[in-house]
Amino acid sequence: MTGSLRDRLFYLRIGLLVRGTVTFRKELAFNMRRPADELRYLNWERRKRIVDHAFRTVPFYQKRYSAVGFEPGDLKNEEDFSELPILERSHIRENLDDLISRNFHKNELKPVSTGGTTGAPITIFSDPRYPLNVISWRTLETWGVSPADNSAYLYRAIPTGISKVLRSLALYPTRRSYLSAFAMSDENLDRFFKALQATRPKYLVGYVGALDVFASYLFDSGLELPGLRAVWSTAAPLSDVKKNFFQTTFGCPVFSQYGSCEFYWIASECHEQSGLHIDSDIRHVEVVDSEDTPCETREHGDLIVTDLLNEAFPLIRYRVGDRGRMLAPTCACGSPFPLMDYVKGRVSDTITLRSGKKIPGEIWTTIFDDFVSEIRSFSVHQSADYRIRVYFEPYGENPSAVLEEVRQRLSKHLDEKTEIEFLAGTHGAIVGGKPQFVTSDVG
Ligand SMILES: [Zn+2]
Repeated sequence: MTGSLRDRLFYLRIGLLVRGTVTFRKELAFNMRRPADELRYLNWERRKRIVDHAFRTVPFYQKRYSAVGFEPGDLKNEEDFSELPILERSHIRENLDDLISRNFHKNELKPVSTGGTTGAPITIFSDPRYPLNVISWRTLETWGVSPADNSAYLYRAIPTGISKVLRSLALYPTRRSYLSAFAMSDENLDRFFKALQATRPKYLVGYVGALDVFASYLFDSGLELPGLRAVWSTAAPLSDVKKNFFQTTFGCPVFSQYGSCEFYWIASECHEQSGLHIDSDIRHVEVVDSEDTPCETREHGDLIVTDLLNEAFPLIRYRVGDRGRMLAPTCACGSPFPLMDYVKGRVSDTITLRSGKKIPGEIWTTIFDDFVSEIRSFSVHQSADYRIRVYFEPYGENPSAVLEEVRQRLSKHLDEKTEIEFLAGTHGAIVGGKPQFVTSDVG
């Protein structure tokens, strides 16, 4: 492994402090250099292994698979896999203890709770053998930065008190600056910006909503962060409009990373910025239609994700609550990892018209994709009387031609009777740093 002395010292020290780091990092680095067909084989073998493990040691899967007459020996090809029952959030909520493998003790496992932005929160348990941060290190390196570099974070949970002190000591001389996504007052933004002027972070990590607040602060004050090489945007779909605004304001590429509380990491963007590479050595992603039948490449559907590593609390064919689609598997960057499209909407972003017709989130969140120079931000709200209002913030004058074009394009999806209105301004909440692009009062 190459890298500067600072990088090597960082990896060495964290390797000593956090069990499992060295082996896991080596394995991930090795997989990244494997040819695509080897990775496909690894992915398949791991899927078979986790299904077999779940059937043998996890009461929930034993019952569920037996109920449909399935035994692990039946798993011979992709078609067999796509017939395994889908795991829903409600299953997790109702069968928490039955989803823990008998090979692990519950009190040794670290619980992870999801936020409540996409329904009632749920808890899962991660596999203690795999330090999750290591997954991000692999991608940071492809973005041209290193976890040993100084960095800055706009997060919900930030270290405080003794844990902050211990973390700073463990990371020294690497410096990390934090601002809570819940505490983005002007005063705190000023303080955060001054801290970053001193530490000159090479990368900035944040939830889309929190990045938006910080980018607007920089943009409106005419401030710059010249040392930044990458922004890592996470936890919510990033529209082309926002991406353009961020890249202009931060002066560097903004990379989308797709994950969830259940999986931490699923896929991330490369320098080509033409979709998300799925980390297929550790996660498997499928797309299914409304009948739960596999979609063709480029066809939108619900994302179904399998964690290939977590044996403590196996998540097999889990409906993660987001919409997406697969793209052609190869990318000019040469990565062997398959490509999926950006996640442009959640299942909950679907708007139902008065007629009952459903318009999925990927339509709403992309309406201004072709007009990123004119529009700085937008959101869509449906009121209880089914009327749809699109709120937008232009960079300059009211862009009436753009709005007319967008209205025309939208009308192809909507019913004739749907009333739609464009209003300058903002609407919609940011919940825990996650913007709600699409909201509806229709119950
Ligand atoms: Zn690529």
